[in-house]
Amino acid sequence: MSHLMNTYARLPVAFTHGQGSRVTDSEGRSYLDALSGIAVNTLGHNHPALVAAIAGQAARLLHTSNLYRIPAAEELSDRLAALSGMDEVFFGNSGAEANEAAIKLARFYGHQRNIDSANIIVMEHSFHGRTLATLSATGNRKTQAGFEPLVSGFVRVPFNDLAAIRAVGEHNHNVVAVMLEVLQGEGGIHLADPDYLHGLRALCDERGWLLICDEVQCGIGRTGKWFGYQHAGILPDVVTLAKGLGGGVPIGACLASGRAAGLFGPGNHGSTFGGNPLACSAALAVLDTVAKAGLLEHTVAVGQMIREGLRSELAGAKGIVDIRGRGLMIGIELDRPCGVLVQRGLDAGLLINVTADKVVRLLPALNFSVEEGRELVVRLAALIRDFLAAKD
Ligand SMILES: *Cc1c(COP(=O)(O)O)cnc(C)c1O
Repeated sequence: MSHLMNTYARLPVAFTHGQGSRVTDSEGRSYLDALSGIAVNTLGHNHPALVAAIAGQAARLLHTSNLYRIPAAEELSDRLAALSGMDEVFFGNSGAEANEAAIKLARFYGHQRNIDSANIIVMEHSFHGRTLATLSATGNRKTQAGFEPLVSGFVRVPFNDLAAIRAVGEHNHNVVAVMLEVLQGEGGIHLADPDYLHGLRALCDERGWLLICDEVQCGIGRTGKWFGYQHAGILPDVVTLAKGLGGGVPIGACLASGRAAGLFGPGNHGSTFGGNPLACSAALAVLDTVAKAGLLEHTVAVGQMIREGLRSELAGAKGIVDIRGRGLMIGIELDRPCGVLVQRGLDAGLLINVTADKVVRLLPALNFSVEEGRELVVRLAALIRDFLAAKD
């Protein structure tokens, strides 16, 4: 046994290399990757543009410091601002860090409005990370249990329930922000209704609250638009990013606009590694490639094909509750816990995930081909049919 801390129930397989959406393990077996490292490998494995950007930057400079200007970070902030409609960007190294920055920003905003004990409204079944503040914001007791005292200042409401948020605002005058994933990932692939998001935007404006969208999983093209909130045509005040941004190189970002912009000054927040030349060069290559290769349109088409394919392949099967999602963020909800499907997928050469106990989750690379989509549908549907038929 290794000396790794036992924080993951790891599957008994190790991969040595990958190409596109195929990975090979240490025994030489090949797998179709429909998970892409949980929405991280935006361009699949070994993409030439990403490899060249990383290798080129590594040969020039890996790290300097935020004590100096970093041109790649400046360029990436410009690109992200243009794509998102936000005004400014803070770079960290992960989703949790991006959300920490957003939470600090919301509190800082509150203090400027003489709210010293700021509250942030958060959702049931949300996931925002594993640091103390972000696990406190997360709507899953399993993530929190044993780590009390939690960070205070979070008020939880049901997802997709505007009246519940309005009701909190009636009596709680310390609210400064509402934080949500417009497409909940870990919670089981649940989409926010467009009407809910429009109502939420209007309510936040009326109350002077910040609207924070955690796009760590659904951002960077995964839903077929650069950002999930763009489907509803709303603009948040704060947006957080991480997973897919660096295509496999760790980077996180907290974007702010309007009322949320211009709040932090020197000394208010920081990160040693945040915005380093290597990570920013990787992210620039990801954004360039997604744009140049037309991957947003491709994501919409392949995602739709996979969902429709699964619907028709699984049409007669008893135990399918729902097949849903957007772009290449797809959930197949069953009527029973189905965690064993992950190992069965592995045995069959398929990398998939199960979240929220009963939801098979697919997060393939944005350049997953139509042929790979068809193969995934046929092979996954067979696995699910067998699983549903075997029990009761
Ligand atoms: C994964 C995830 C996070 C946490 O990101 P880390 O990089 O693991 O810290 C936060 N929010 C959402 C929506 C996520 O999916």
